[in-house]
Amino acid sequence: MTDTFKAYLLREGDDRKVTGAFEEVAMSDLPEGDVTVRVAYSTVNYKDGMVMGGIGRLVRSYPHVPGVDFSGVVEASDNPGFKPGDKVVLTGWRVGEMHWGGYGELARVKGDWLVKLPDGLSLSRAMALGTAGFTAGLAVDTLEAAGMTPAKGEVLVTGAAGGVGSVAVALLAAKGYTVAAATGRAETHDYLTGLGAASFIDRAELAEQPGRPLNKERFQAAIDNVAGPTLANLLTQIAYGGSVAAVGLAGGNEVATTVLPFLLRGVNLLGIDSVMCPAERRQKVWSMIAGNLPMEKLDAISHSHGFDELPALGKAILKGEVRGRAVVTVG
Ligand code: NDP
Repeated sequence: MTDTFKAYLLREGDDRKVTGAFEEVAMSDLPEGDVTVRVAYSTVNYKDGMVMGGIGRLVRSYPHVPGVDFSGVVEASDNPGFKPGDKVVLTGWRVGEMHWGGYGELARVKGDWLVKLPDGLSLSRAMALGTAGFTAGLAVDTLEAAGMTPAKGEVLVTGAAGGVGSVAVALLAAKGYTVAAATGRAETHDYLTGLGAASFIDRAELAEQPGRPLNKERFQAAIDNVAGPTLANLLTQIAYGGSVAAVGLAGGNEVATTVLPFLLRGVNLLGIDSVMCPAERRQKVWSMIAGNLPMEKLDAISHSHGFDELPALGKAILKGEVRGRAVVTVG
């Protein structure tokens, strides 16, 4: 082990402006934790763009190593659950915001936050999934626990061409569901068909507040990345006993609905949180994704980048210019 490692380090100036640079960081500066991981890959989420841009005050103290997600190999461990050589993945737990994250060759974290890489999933593909893919898996798992089965009819995915949406479409289709994809980008139809979408809805169709408290029962379930009027609208179209997984807020964080879908159709609105999700559930969901998602579909969603591209990717994601999932080789 050398005494330093390369990291993309953020510093805050006297004017509170945040700037980033690749630096050699002393190993003695690594934060507390019982497992040290040699990071292989990370990724760029919207939140990473915010952290790199110093937006939203998500970081508690500087200097800071960003990177919400990472995959790598355990280098040293005082945690009985992990030993050197174990392949691991980390998403959530406010790593990359409150704690140093994956944009460094080494990361030191609590072992309880790590998930052992399931069989069949490589370190780079774990990052093609990252928080977005894990969240899609969590939503599918939650809906299935509430009774969703392929035989019960169509499942709607909103924000379908985004990171969560793309993995949700591919995973549902692979599990035998008929998937309706709501997207605002008609140019992504071929891409989404390739992932397994069976039909399309223009997102504008769902973007207005619903005129009636109940509409025709159209979908057995939905994974919603948009919220706002879109969520209010789709709740009126869920079949008796069906469920909606509330994942995202790309279209706003307020929902004006009536309780009639809940009271007259027994519809369930199920919250999805990937950040503080307990470790045991994480392991189960990662295994479910690895066991069901065809890897060639995941490869169609992701693209590879060098470590030096991080600053540019951070800016691009804030402008909505990153399609699918960006996998970054660390080091
Ligand atoms: P992306 O930015 O990749 O995708 C969001 C998608 O939403 C876009 O691709 C677009 O889909 C659609 N969209 C964007 N703006 C609007 C709008 N104004 N109205 C309607 N649709 C819109 O994000 P992710 O897929 O990574 O995340 C999706 C959501 O889930 C985000 O809100 C994110 O914050 C949240 N999230 C929640 C997590 C949790 O634990 N609950 C974890 C991870 C993410 P299209 O182009 O197909 O129309």
